[in-house]
Amino acid sequence: MLAIPGKACGECSFCCKVLEIAELAKSAGKLCEHCLNAGSGGCGIYAGRPQVCRDYECLWKGDRDMSPRLRPDRTGTILMEDPDSDEYRAVCDPEKPFAWLTPLVFKHLVAMAKNGRIVVAKAGLKSWRIRGNGQWGPCV
Ligand code: SF4
Ligand code: SF4
Repeated sequence: MLAIPGKACGECSFCCKVLEIAELAKSAGKLCEHCLNAGSGGCGIYAGRPQVCRDYECLWKGDRDMSPRLRPDRTGTILMEDPDSDEYRAVCDPEKPFAWLTPLVFKHLVAMAKNGRIVVAKAGLKSWRIRGNGQWGPCV
């Protein structure tokens, strides 16, 4: 995949902390043991990292129109398609479960819901549905 100008991971390593990675027996919210210098990016096993890490790219990185301010480490929120459903997801660190309420992120999520997407924010085992009218509440 061709890199998009201005869309490098840089010092972000948010996905290496927030996402569950079965291949590494890593739970959501636990920083990967191979992550170099949290807050400055880098993988200690880059050449031999699992395929799932090679394949993963958050939506921010792949969307040239998404603001630099939405980089996951800046908002505390990864925007991603759920591979197992039609949901558009905002995934946050369980330590900061409401980072998705940051105005810039929330505005984006409401716009996605207005466009007909099922929008869900997640932090660990907790999740919330966001509606196109700006209302939100826990998923039941
Ligand atoms: S969350 Fe996105 S920008 Fe951050 S390290 Fe992962 S792929 Fe790169
Ligand atoms: S193996 Fe490397 S790329 Fe994969 S989660 Fe760990 S630090 Fe990130």
